[in-house]
Amino acid sequence: MHIEVKNLNKSFGSFHAVKDVSFSIEKGRLIGLLGPSGGGKTSILRMLAGLESPTSGEIYFHGQLVNQVPPQERGIGFVFQNYALFKHMTVAENIAFGLKVMKKKKQEIADRVTELVELTGLKGFEHRYPNQLSGGQRQRVAFARALAPEPQLLLLDEPFAAIDAKIRSELRTWLKEIIERVGITAIFVTHDQEEAIEVADEIMIINHGRMEQKGTPWEIYKQPQTPFVASFVGESTFLDNISGLRGFEQASDWEGTKALIRPEYIEIGKVNEFTMASATEPGRIKNIHFRGSEWKIEIEVGDYRLTTYRSLEKDVLQPGEDVQVLIHRAYLFNDEDSWIMENR
Ligand code: ATP
Repeated sequence: MHIEVKNLNKSFGSFHAVKDVSFSIEKGRLIGLLGPSGGGKTSILRMLAGLESPTSGEIYFHGQLVNQVPPQERGIGFVFQNYALFKHMTVAENIAFGLKVMKKKKQEIADRVTELVELTGLKGFEHRYPNQLSGGQRQRVAFARALAPEPQLLLLDEPFAAIDAKIRSELRTWLKEIIERVGITAIFVTHDQEEAIEVADEIMIINHGRMEQKGTPWEIYKQPQTPFVASFVGESTFLDNISGLRGFEQASDWEGTKALIRPEYIEIGKVNEFTMASATEPGRIKNIHFRGSEWKIEIEVGDYRLTTYRSLEKDVLQPGEDVQVLIHRAYLFNDEDSWIMENR
């Protein structure tokens, strides 16, 4: 389903929860609505579903205005964080539920349930009740139930939030594959940046009711357009003034400009290790944490504290040790603009 949203607003009393949000989504895309708690993600999802009506703005499905169309007529499937399965129904009965409501023929329902049980890897569990399933299995049932009536849009509100880390990661990959196979448009809400980056074709960053940026995970990570996006997605440190650091002296017009530095843009070496010494800054190792696959290192550079990662193969550094710090790149932001600056 192709979706178009124009100037969507939602107020609850005097509280303006969703502010002038516009976007369009191509058919078959998997979209992540990402942002901090209370930002307005769920409100946007509920308006798309028809569970909440916009204070102003328009929602179009296939070019048709659906503001007045009730939820059950919008061709939408839902999956919620807390499974919301019917406890007194078996897996098969849960999956069949929507089809029964639609008064489909018995045989058709049975065939569709078999198809979905296979698609979602639930074969052998058809006659179990929700309390006889693991969290991950329950969530698969919830997906199967939502997909059964062949919706054209699937809305998922924090679908993995209640599931433990390892299973969550498997389920994400699984969901992406299933959605591609079914060819459905899907939108999921998450506050987990890793999840959005890993799963979504495109991410919309929502903060304080506004859309900060929409783009592919690559664009969101590599070309953040606002300080919020840069700091919410990926790790980073903000500097109030980078023009004092070597390699960035030409950063002029510093008034009101912030610099943001990602760990992967920082390289550290023993004193005199770098040949391009004029572009490096003296620093001191503050802390070192072993992370299994690498070291996480906090460095002091002047008044700033920066974080970087270092491969286990490289020389081991010690806390308190003096090092040279090479900052390759910084993201710069002022009120109007964002740009990337490379070390000269
Ligand atoms: P979360 O991840 O915590 O669910 P969210 O980004 O999905 O956050 P929303 O649930 O859309 O955010 O809520 C946005 C804001 O609107 C919040 O400040 C919330 O308290 C407020 N809000 C949501 N629903 C209502 C309501 N029915 N009445 C009053 N305020 C509401």
